[in-house]
Amino acid sequence: MELFEVLNPPQRLLMGPGPINAYPRVLQAISNQLIGQYDPVMTGYMKQTQRLYQQVFETNNEATLLIDGTARAGIEAVLVSIIKPGDKVLVPVMGRFGHLLCEIAHRTGAEIYTIDVEWGEVCDPALIEQEIKRIQPKLLATVQGDTSTTMNQPLAEIGEICKRHGVLFYCDATASVAGNELKIDEWQLDAVSVGLQKCLGGPSGSAPISLSDEFVKQINKRKHVEKGIRADHHEDGVEPMIQSNYFDLPMILDYWGEERLNHHTEATSMLYAARECARLYLEEGAVNVIARHKQAGDALATGLKAMGLQLFGNQAYKMNNVVGVYIPDNVDGEEIRRELLLRFGIEIGTSFGPLQGKIWRIGTMGYNARQEAVLHTLAALEAVLLRHKAAIQPGQAVIAAMEYYS
Ligand SMILES: *Cc1c(COP(=O)(O)O)cnc(C)c1O
Repeated sequence: MELFEVLNPPQRLLMGPGPINAYPRVLQAISNQLIGQYDPVMTGYMKQTQRLYQQVFETNNEATLLIDGTARAGIEAVLVSIIKPGDKVLVPVMGRFGHLLCEIAHRTGAEIYTIDVEWGEVCDPALIEQEIKRIQPKLLATVQGDTSTTMNQPLAEIGEICKRHGVLFYCDATASVAGNELKIDEWQLDAVSVGLQKCLGGPSGSAPISLSDEFVKQINKRKHVEKGIRADHHEDGVEPMIQSNYFDLPMILDYWGEERLNHHTEATSMLYAARECARLYLEEGAVNVIARHKQAGDALATGLKAMGLQLFGNQAYKMNNVVGVYIPDNVDGEEIRRELLLRFGIEIGTSFGPLQGKIWRIGTMGYNARQEAVLHTLAALEAVLLRHKAAIQPGQAVIAAMEYYS
């Protein structure tokens, strides 16, 4: 028999680009006992969670709900439900997650068109309009905060452009939601998906999404109710069936809607978590939470610069909640990360693709968008860098961040 030890993970301070340490109240929420799927208390919690996320997303969209799975499940549900083979999809690619949208859309049989933006920059809305006119896509799929580059794509103007040209507008806002502004209705987004493990301060495993009435109308053309639960009044949509059962949004909407048609079993513990993440965000107030992320992010950046390190990317478009910083010459970035983790219990992020081995990414998100988390991280990073004989300015970083906060 192999039992291993009782679960007892080490205390870590998670200062990477996600996941992060969860808010204590979210951990408490998860530890509550399970209830049945159709218990009126459970369906009540589902309705409350919908209402909470309408407020988080600043939308009246009735189709605001959770997809069970990590953020990628939300992305996949949106894309597989809307894209039919041969549909044209336009994707501005400014980092790893733009490539992910292309990859998922490609699997659905989409004809993909990209606007390739240099990593560390964002995409000009005028260029998006030019490409929309030329390509006439069905869908524009974007990423708001691409954590791979730490850039935040401005979205406010793009919705109006899409509306004018009859294009549906989807955004993956996983990394940016709750740390940067996101206004679904005002910005005329048709579909948004997120996750909990960034600024919302929860564990990964639930993907809140919101869909406009127009988006719902489009996907309902592909509606198809499973045989085993079908009743006489159910009619199939006129367009081809959605290629995934688990991510079939029309069926998931029937499960979350009045009919409560059985689909999957809602992930109860994750719903408890998602519900508490939203309550925490709304209770503190959107403006205050976003300001706290900006303050923590700016304090961290100030400290890194005081140490003599160079920040990555166009700082005018930096996300509030994560900073990219060049690994100084003559040190091994992975060795520094390992030492921070094993000696200080602090995790910072590595990088992908063209930035691998060139920058670290340090996040200040959710529960960790706090002064002491920023100061501990700067103090530890400075000590480890000095021990590795990096050419940095000693004794400045923590004080600069403290001054920033005072
Ligand atoms: C972190 C992140 C995700 C995470 O996806 P998971 O499936 O939850 O791992 C998705 N999109 C973006 C833009 C992210 O930054």
